[in-house]
Amino acid sequence: MTFKLPTLPFANNALEPWYDENTVIIHHTKHHQAYTDNLNKAIEEAKLEVNSIEDLLINVNDVDPQFRTRIINHGGGYYNHNFFWESLAPNASSKASETLIAAIEKKWASFDAFKEEFSAKALGHFGSGWAWLVLNKDKELEIIDTHDQVCPLTLGYQPLLTIDVWEHAYYIKYQNRRAEWISAFWNLVNYERVEERLNTALSK
Ligand code: MN
Repeated sequence: MTFKLPTLPFANNALEPWYDENTVIIHHTKHHQAYTDNLNKAIEEAKLEVNSIEDLLINVNDVDPQFRTRIINHGGGYYNHNFFWESLAPNASSKASETLIAAIEKKWASFDAFKEEFSAKALGHFGSGWAWLVLNKDKELEIIDTHDQVCPLTLGYQPLLTIDVWEHAYYIKYQNRRAEWISAFWNLVNYERVEERLNTALSK
């Protein structure tokens, strides 16, 4: 199985002014493309039979140790970026539904309290990685962070929303000001997609 770089679900400039066209193009056509190419190379060299990227990442500990780190890095990089792009939508195109707000408010004191905890996790992450809203094994909402390209699927979580806090995700526009990128991100969250993912994860 050969993976392909997915087409973005919006125009390169559709996330302006929160996420600039130049960053979107480089992030997608250089970084995401490189993970895709390196994943395909690693699969070919390891002679892996792959059914889906999800299965590969869930069962990555079964991969020959000689190739495992490459699959974690590039398979995670491929999946995490697919997931990231699909978590975003142009400004104001999507708001959290009452259903999603109710699910969030079961766990956090308010929707704002959830956003604050997620933002703090993203801001506090040391070095390269991701912050995630996930459903854990007990089907409870949880906020986690993962290092480098580790995917929540490998850790037994169902991912619902993510922000990329690698410097390549924000440095062109925001330089070292990660907090500004996180603040801008909230204008781009595709809440409809988050709710779809939650419903799918709850029904499993
Ligand atoms: Mn990235």
